[in-house]
Amino acid sequence: MATLTQLSPAVREKYEPVIGLEVHVQLLTATKIFCSCSTRFGAPPNTNVCPVCLGLPGALPVLNRKAVKFAVLAAQALNCQIRETSIFARKNYFYPDLPKGYQISQFDKPVAEHGWIEIPCPGGTTRRIGITRLHLEEDAGKSIHDGFPAAAASTLIDLNRSGVPLAEIVSEPDMRSPQEAYEYLTLLKEIILYTGVSDCNMEEGSLRCDANVSVRPRGQEKFGTKTEIKNVNSFRFIRDALEYEIERQIEIIESGERIHQETRLYNSAEGKTYSMRSKEQAHDYRYFPEPDLLPLVVDARWQAEIRHTLPELPEARRRRMVAEYGITEQDAQVLTVTRTLADQFEEAAKAAKNPKRVANLVQGELMGRLKAKGLEIEQSPVSMKGVAMSADLLESKTISGKILKDLYDKAFENGEDFPVVYEREKPQQVTDSAAIEKIIDEVIAASPKQLEQYRGGKTTLIGFFVGQVMKASKGQASPEMVNDLLKSKLG
Ligand SMILES: [Zn+2]
Repeated sequence: MATLTQLSPAVREKYEPVIGLEVHVQLLTATKIFCSCSTRFGAPPNTNVCPVCLGLPGALPVLNRKAVKFAVLAAQALNCQIRETSIFARKNYFYPDLPKGYQISQFDKPVAEHGWIEIPCPGGTTRRIGITRLHLEEDAGKSIHDGFPAAAASTLIDLNRSGVPLAEIVSEPDMRSPQEAYEYLTLLKEIILYTGVSDCNMEEGSLRCDANVSVRPRGQEKFGTKTEIKNVNSFRFIRDALEYEIERQIEIIESGERIHQETRLYNSAEGKTYSMRSKEQAHDYRYFPEPDLLPLVVDARWQAEIRHTLPELPEARRRRMVAEYGITEQDAQVLTVTRTLADQFEEAAKAAKNPKRVANLVQGELMGRLKAKGLEIEQSPVSMKGVAMSADLLESKTISGKILKDLYDKAFENGEDFPVVYEREKPQQVTDSAAIEKIIDEVIAASPKQLEQYRGGKTTLIGFFVGQVMKASKGQASPEMVNDLLKSKLG
């Protein structure tokens, strides 16, 4: 982690960080917010453009209804109040990737305000982080500084992204540590993903985050001067950047100097932030109501209609799954990491006799193998139906854990589902007690030293004997029978 080595923990402890986050999420509409151009990522530069998103004079914006619906849905998931009448405003600034010279955004009347989410804290408690507002706006284009031959001498502009719909989610300055900022972002992303309004893909820029951070002596009410860290491309880097920036600010204050309000960039390779420009104030943008758009009205009826489509959110889902399937909170945490995984788990849990066993198999047998192969749950060769079947076979003791592992290995090797592999291999568990006893006798005869120790009181050696018998039976002996028979023979 990035640290300035000079700062002693005692000095660091004197100050309290204050952090607020601004998150932009790209809404998953097929077309842009004010025109019918495609929002598809990765198209050749400047092919998804028209007079509206190029900002040509006289072109008129038409609001995308789905973008509004998605923004309202996200706002409802974040416990915001929806404003019945909100206003689009022009945010004026010059930048090469903004041909109009202004961005259509929302200013003093955003579509939603006064929300909150509860982030997990150490010790199993939670802390409520306020969400000041969620507003709709259009994205700007993109300046390209490398990747093309001509880029060596000049900057290229791609306007495919110009006019892509964004929801900007602004938090209250409620976070008090980089870790809390990390938790907030993780939970926010999880909630947005559950609503389905964005894919939150940071590599493709569909989730971007700016952080405002200041420090103040502990106990002081008044906020210190803040700096803004822009466009950091992973949550881990944001945590590191904040860590660095907090220490930098404390050092400046400790040396008797003042913090300058400015925008800073984070260099992840060096673990440091650098000054980019002095921070703009809202009045620098000369906001005024967008004259080409009517006020946006989301009446109570439409709000209710949208709320009706709100899915069960991660926290509520975890609580229900713990109660419904008898799984642990830890299981629920892992199994709800994405909505798809949770859906798939529930499908298997409902089909199987013992849902807890399904939870164990998904985590113990499926996820590790998926990770090793670099696969997503959707690409798993073993379907949830297959997981449910394997859980039932284990439950009825038709196969042992060892055989199950082998079958999963084969399924992943061949890219086949569990039932296919099982039907072909049809591994039978040996439940013939005479056959198992014969193996046990052989194992005991071959391990006189362990036998003596066991009879001398070292009963934990039972595990050794079970292991040897299972190995000798190529994993096919019923572990339960092996245990019972061994105990009686050894005893
Ligand atoms: Zn367009």
